[in-house]
Amino acid sequence: MKKVLVLAETKNGKLRNVSLEVLTVAGKIANGGEINACIFGSDGEKFREELAKFGAQKIYLVENAELNRYTPDGFKQALLKVIEEVQPEVVLTGHTSVGKDLLPRVAVRLNAALISDCIDVEVGEKIIFTRPIYSGKAFQKKEVTNGIVMATIRPNNIEAKENQAAGETFKILAELKDLRTMVKDIVKKTSGKVDLSEAKIIVAGGRGVKSAEGFKPLQELADVLGGAVGASRAACDAGYCDYSLQIGQTGKVVTPDLYIACGISGAIQHLAGMSSSKVIVAINKDPEANIFHIADYGIVGDLFEVVPLLTEEFKKVFA
Ligand code: FAD
Repeated sequence: MKKVLVLAETKNGKLRNVSLEVLTVAGKIANGGEINACIFGSDGEKFREELAKFGAQKIYLVENAELNRYTPDGFKQALLKVIEEVQPEVVLTGHTSVGKDLLPRVAVRLNAALISDCIDVEVGEKIIFTRPIYSGKAFQKKEVTNGIVMATIRPNNIEAKENQAAGETFKILAELKDLRTMVKDIVKKTSGKVDLSEAKIIVAGGRGVKSAEGFKPLQELADVLGGAVGASRAACDAGYCDYSLQIGQTGKVVTPDLYIACGISGAIQHLAGMSSSKVIVAINKDPEANIFHIADYGIVGDLFEVVPLLTEEFKKVFA
């Protein structure tokens, strides 16, 4: 039985799905112990019900308008304060841009071990975390043998399961000092309705899409499926789309239920960002393209013929 603390994150006024997934991981690790959640900003209270529904027994609110947006110093101070109060044995959050930036800072302050980008956890006599290494070519199993355990969990890997708990709330006062960096404004570059890193369906385009205009049929397919559009680095480098859409080793790592790769050759650096997708469909006119080696379904053909046909067929299904 363990005492676990989850840092929950919000985006655009909603709880991030990965936070619910992390609560499910917390339940597994707690194994009958205590599941705590904390949330920062002025409107944490409004997420109480949802956090409780997914297993949070106690919810710690650090209410401060300066925490409405991520600030490395502010979040670090707030999380350290909650940790001091709760005294958890395990601290978890999502492997998001906030989680990746924040947890190492807190781990250093506590001289704690951090295991990042976990995709699975086994709980027995020991807690063993699994994380991909070498761009997803191998998996590493890690345990922490001493002190507090900190881990970030990759989004879309572990299904969030409801586990109704009391969700008792506690307010924590954190006096924020010396905030050296503040996010003043967030400029959204993409018009995508679905967040790429948490999308269940991704339609991705590569150099084979040939132009920004060429991405339109991909967006139409993504819209019909309720998914997001992604891209290879070659497509971003060529200016067909914004770098925020780049998937791969130096882009986003995604794990959707369905990944449709259009005009993407399947370079190792691209595979590093999407090879753990649950179902991969590749559309490429070159039957020898490397992407077909990891695809569950392959369509050899011109994407400009195949993609509109798929959109038409899916429209019939989802009409
Ligand atoms: P290409 O390799 O040029 O493939 C285009 C494909 O489109 C071909 O297979 C072709 O047959 C097909 N095609 C052409 N026309 C059509 C058509 N009409 N219909 C159907 N198919 C068609 N890449 C990433 O994606 N993400 C990364 O994060 C990343 N990081 C990198 C980091 C480093 C350090 C380096 C060195 C490289 C990185 N790259 C990354 C680049 C990577 O090596 C490849 O160059 C890139 O992924 C290739 O993109 P692509 O598959 O779109 O283009």
